[in-house]
Amino acid sequence: MTEHAVVVENVGKTFDAGVIALEDVSLAIAPGEFVSLIGPSGCGKSTLLRIIADLDRPTSGAVSVFGLTARQARIEQKYGIAFQQAGLLDWRTVQSNVGLPLELHKVPKRERTERVRELLDLVGLSDFAEKFPSQLSGGMQQRVAIARALARTPGLLLMDEPFGALDEMTREKMQNDLLRIAEESSAAVVFVTHSIPEAVYLSDRVVVMSARPGRIVDTLTIDRSERNGDSRESAEFFSSITAVRDTLHGRTVRSVELS
Ligand code: ADP
Ligand code: MG
Repeated sequence: MTEHAVVVENVGKTFDAGVIALEDVSLAIAPGEFVSLIGPSGCGKSTLLRIIADLDRPTSGAVSVFGLTARQARIEQKYGIAFQQAGLLDWRTVQSNVGLPLELHKVPKRERTERVRELLDLVGLSDFAEKFPSQLSGGMQQRVAIARALARTPGLLLMDEPFGALDEMTREKMQNDLLRIAEESSAAVVFVTHSIPEAVYLSDRVVVMSARPGRIVDTLTIDRSERNGDSRESAEFFSSITAVRDTLHGRTVRSVELS
């Protein structure tokens, strides 16, 4: 059996105030697979992502990342992470923001320069290496954050509403870029979003969660074989959107395969 990128087993999370954020959540993600988490605000999407990233601990259950404990995976930087806010350092240029994880990991300067060049090329920012974050648009800043997350060639990207603050056109472009980047880097992606079309467009599987306590209601498999700009207009795309929406609202799903 191939090792999974992520295995979440019967994870529960109760916060000190007695808030049950997650209850009995189980999920396995294959290498290279793109999985979205969708659900109403407060259903525990960010909490689940933070637990996978070892930024928070589960109250019960266990998480492994490429066969390691979440803690070990964090220490070995097995994943990259990107949030809604790009979180760049204003006083550093684009290239030195992207190279920061390499610097922290004491990668020699020449190797670092080479890798940063590759990454900027991957996210389409080669001409902006010397600029500062304040000189870039929101979409470009988010690209820098993604390049930084990929710096150490992780097999897993954890993303929490990374395009939530972008306008619709930039967002669609970023979605296409992310699909290409994920494919080129063979990384698995766990992607938190509020947007049903975004989840359907990007994902191999959409995990639908319910609020209070947060649990997985259903997992819908999306056929991604014909994914391209035109597929946003296709009948299959709209029927998958309807299926996810029906699941979110607790209605029965017929039009897509359940797994
Ligand atoms: P989502 O990302 O789906 O909007 P969150 O994972 O942020 O939801 O939050 C899930 C639930 O846990 C919410 O009810 C939230 O208020 C609660 N919560 C999140 N973080 C904390 C915390 N540090 N302390 C107490 N409650 C929290
Ligand atoms: Mg959240």
